[in-house]
Amino acid sequence: MIIDLKEIRKKGKEEEAFYFEYFPSAQLCAVPNVEIAPPVKIQGRVRILDKTTVFAEGEVFFTLKGECTRCLNPAEKSYVADFAEEFSSAGEEGAYPYCADKIDLTKAIDDLLILEMPMTFVCGEDCKAEY
Ligand SMILES: [Zn+2]
Repeated sequence: MIIDLKEIRKKGKEEEAFYFEYFPSAQLCAVPNVEIAPPVKIQGRVRILDKTTVFAEGEVFFTLKGECTRCLNPAEKSYVADFAEEFSSAGEEGAYPYCADKIDLTKAIDDLLILEMPMTFVCGEDCKAEY
């Protein structure tokens, strides 16, 4: 998930839309017997703020697939998470680092997925455990 800032500058622009699909590492989902059904889709915009700062924002779409924590039936659910992150090539605190005019979104998206991962995975609001 690399965005080349040189390409954007070459077009005389300061911002550009992007779209990526990626296959995240299985370890990102900590719910037992549940996995992220790839691909995760990322849609957003980057904005070049100055020589060393870039801002990226958008939405991440992901689907979880596996066993309902309560009734153990197979289930599939989709989630959307917003993100807004700053990237800095000057080592600014709180920003993701980048260098050589290339932004790699992978770390930021991995972190977001970990943050947005539900603690439990329930097939529906009205799920009633059946034993
Ligand atoms: Zn259930």
